[in-house]
Amino acid sequence: MYAFPAHIDLRDRPVLIIGGGAAALAKARLMLSAGAALTLIASEFDPETRAELADRASLIRRQPVVADIESALIVFVADTPSEQAERWVEAARIAGVLINVVDQPALCDFTTPSIIERGRVTVSISTGGAAPVLGKKLRADIEALLPPQLGALADFAGRYRDAVKANFVPEARRRFWEEFFDGPIAAQVLSGDEAGAHDAMLAHINRPQAKPEIGVVHIVGAGPGDPDLLTIKALRLLQRADVILYDRLVSDEILAYARRDAERLYVGKAKSNHAVPQEEIESRLIELAREGKMVVRLKGGDPFVFGRGGEELETLRNANIPVFVCPGITAATGCAAAANMALTHRDHAQAVTFVTGHAKGEADPVLNWSALAALKHTLVVYMGVGKADSISAQLIAHGRGDATPVAVVENGTRADQKIVKGVLRDLPRLISQGGIEGPALLVIGEVAALADGDTLTALIEKERLVA
Ligand code: SAH
Repeated sequence: MYAFPAHIDLRDRPVLIIGGGAAALAKARLMLSAGAALTLIASEFDPETRAELADRASLIRRQPVVADIESALIVFVADTPSEQAERWVEAARIAGVLINVVDQPALCDFTTPSIIERGRVTVSISTGGAAPVLGKKLRADIEALLPPQLGALADFAGRYRDAVKANFVPEARRRFWEEFFDGPIAAQVLSGDEAGAHDAMLAHINRPQAKPEIGVVHIVGAGPGDPDLLTIKALRLLQRADVILYDRLVSDEILAYARRDAERLYVGKAKSNHAVPQEEIESRLIELAREGKMVVRLKGGDPFVFGRGGEELETLRNANIPVFVCPGITAATGCAAAANMALTHRDHAQAVTFVTGHAKGEADPVLNWSALAALKHTLVVYMGVGKADSISAQLIAHGRGDATPVAVVENGTRADQKIVKGVLRDLPRLISQGGIEGPALLVIGEVAALADGDTLTALIEKERLVA
C-alpha cells in the first residue's frame, strides 16, 4: 500500500499551520471543517486570512519555535520557502509529529486526499501526491454514484446497531445489514421518509426469527484472468461471499475483490500437483452451505466450459442446496479478443468448435477428427498443450492442410500474456520454441493468421539475438 488512509477525528485536537497566505487559508478551512482547534503562526498574515480566521483560530504573529510543533497533533507548512520548511520537517520528525508541506510531496509525512462527504460517510481519494488532478476527477466520478441521503442512511443504521446486535448472532447480523442496505427500508430512508422507515425497522428487527437458514452456493465464472473481465454480478457475489473456494486459474487480483474477512479456500492443484479431489470439493460445498454460509465456488473462465461446473451443480441440487450459476468469459473468447483474432471472421470461418485435449479417463483425446479437420472452421483446444503433437498429426491425417494457420495463447488477458503463431505442422515446435508452460489455448484455422504474436522465425531470431 502506497499510503495508509486513516480517518482521523480532529475535533478539538491541536492543529498547527505555519504560514499566513492563501495556501495556509485553504488548509485552515479544511481543518476547521474537521473541527480542529487551530493555530496559525506566521511573521505576516494576508488581510483575507486574518479577516476570515480572526474569530475561528488563534493567529500568532511571530516566528514559530520547536515547542509550537511539539504541542500539535499534526502540522501544515504553507507559503514558506523550502529551506525553512525543511527545518520544520526535521523538528517534526524529532518530535514524532506528522507534518505536511503544501505542494512538496517529498517533504510530507501525509497528504490531504480529495474528499467526498455524505454526513458521516467519508470517501477519501489519494494518488499518493502524484496526480492531484486525477484525484479530483475521480472524486467527481464517485460523487455521481453516491446518493445525497447516504449520510442519513448511515445515521439511521447507526441508531439501530445495538438493537440488531442484541437480536442477532454475528453471522445473521451481517446478513441482516446486507439485506437492509439493499432492501425497502433503506430505500425509504434514501427517499426521505425517515419516520416511515423507523416504524418498518422496528417491526423488522422484532419479527419472529426464522430457524437458521440454509446457505447458498453460487458457481461463478472468474473469466480468463484480467479482473476487468469479471461480470458485475460476479463482482457483487464475491463481495458478499462468506467463503470462496477457488481454483488455480483464478488470479490474486480477482480474489482481492472479495470481502476482507471472507474465508478463501484454495482447491486447485498445488505445485506438488495434488489437487483436492472433486468429490471432496463437492462435499465441502454442501457442508458450508448447510452451515448457513454464502458460498462462492469461483472458477477460471466460464464454469460450464470444461470447468466441472455441471458436475458441481448436479451434486448440489441432489443435496437440495440452493445453487446458482454466474457465467464468465471463457478462455476462448477472452484470448481471441486479447490476440485480436476474430474466431468466426466471415472471410475465414463459418463455425467454431471448442474441444478439450484432456478427456476423462482417456490417454489421447477421442474426437471426430474428420469433422474437426473441416475447412472454414476454427478449432479451439483447451488443455491441449501436452497433446499438441498428436492433435496436429491427427488433423493433418484427416485432411487439414499442414500449412493451416495456428496460434497459441498463453495466460491470455493477463499481464504475462504470450502469443505465438505459425502453421499446423509446426505446432509442437512452436510450443517448445515459444517456451509455453502456463495455461494455454490452441487455435487452429485460418483466423489464427490474424492473431498478434511472434512467428517461429521471429522466435528463433529473438533467441539468436539473445545468444
Ligand atoms: N472453465 C475454463 C476452462 C478450464 S480448463 C474456461 O472457461 O476458460 C483449463 C484450460 O483453459 C487451460 O488448460 C487452458 O487451455 C485454458 N485457459 C484458461 N485460462 C486461460 C488463459 N488465461 N489463457 C489461455 N488459456 C487459458
